[in-house]
Amino acid sequence: MHPTECIAPSKTLEIDALAKKLLSEGKDVINFTVGEPDFPTPKNIVDKAIEALQKGFTKYTDSNGIPQLREAISKYLKEKKGVSYSPDEIVVSNGGKQALFNAFSAILEENDEVVMFAPLWVSYVPQVLLARGKPVIVRTRFENGFVPTKEEIISHITERTKAILVNSPNNPTGGIYDKETLELIATIANERNIFVISDEVYDDLVYEGKHISMYGLVKDELLIYVNAFSKSHAMTGWRVGYTATKNKEIKKRISKIQSHVSSNINTPAQYAAIEACNTDNAPMIEEFKKRREVILKFAKDYGLKFVEPKGAFYLFFKVNGSDEEFCKQLLSEKLVATVPGSAFEMPGFVRISFATSVEKIEEGMRRLGEFIKQQE
Ligand code: PLP
Repeated sequence: MHPTECIAPSKTLEIDALAKKLLSEGKDVINFTVGEPDFPTPKNIVDKAIEALQKGFTKYTDSNGIPQLREAISKYLKEKKGVSYSPDEIVVSNGGKQALFNAFSAILEENDEVVMFAPLWVSYVPQVLLARGKPVIVRTRFENGFVPTKEEIISHITERTKAILVNSPNNPTGGIYDKETLELIATIANERNIFVISDEVYDDLVYEGKHISMYGLVKDELLIYVNAFSKSHAMTGWRVGYTATKNKEIKKRISKIQSHVSSNINTPAQYAAIEACNTDNAPMIEEFKKRREVILKFAKDYGLKFVEPKGAFYLFFKVNGSDEEFCKQLLSEKLVATVPGSAFEMPGFVRISFATSVEKIEEGMRRLGEFIKQQE
């Protein structure tokens, strides 16, 4: 059977499309489904892309990414995040999404297993399946803050386990893993020679506590580090992400895959990304922080059950009954679009994105309050 038969189109995109349809009919929909900053890309970044176009940088480049960009990313990772990779260890891809797919494709042989923790981002399972691997889902528990325990991880490891996938800060919970949990995962991987793919695309968006990278915890040759400018610099449409690994064989494979699947990413976007490496994103993060306060106040007032989001821009709360039914009714009755937890392999919960204005958050949460009251 072809792997595409096992995968469904992204559920988040489906609901987003339905919300957009209602909007196009003139309905006053509050869209809480979106997984991207609503801020424009900073002007200085846009200007660099325009300049690149005007200078004629419109041709193919090195498929790993232009050397100046890999140099800039290397410096940015080191100075801003304490993550040390040389330009030769970095491959620039079409967003974090392709970076992840390259990583899976580079390590997996047929039926190799990838251990991942639910709730999880919608594309992990399909990507592993497309790379002919086998996703092995560990269902973390709300009571544990959606953080996996040692027993939960170990009981899912087999002789076919090729990698453990980590996503902190997390989509959809907004949770960040503490050092103990990350060290636990790293120890398990290091002892058993298992790769760790660390998806750190939300690492800049942290409002409480501190993001800790898997870099330095997992043995260098076992770590594939993934990041992107999409969330950190409001650049989702530019498609700039990257893998970094000190494992030379894996880096070589990723380069080959990148070169044959899409060659280099869009050339002007690479020049824009160099500028992003030198652009302070603190003002955007400050704004997210404020919005988070607003949404948390409503959520607490309503007595919603959730794990406090410390990063990303999501609130993931518990509902009674079917999450899909909850989301459908909330959209049709109150015109508030949210994403059911089932999309993230965690039924019984609903995700709200607070990547929207304070006014919209207030109005959407007011309607959610009415909806919940009606249900009681
Ligand atoms: N990883 C996670 C957890 C995400 O939520 C997303 C986007 O929603 C990505 C990766 C992919 O990001 P990009 O837009 O850079 O491809």
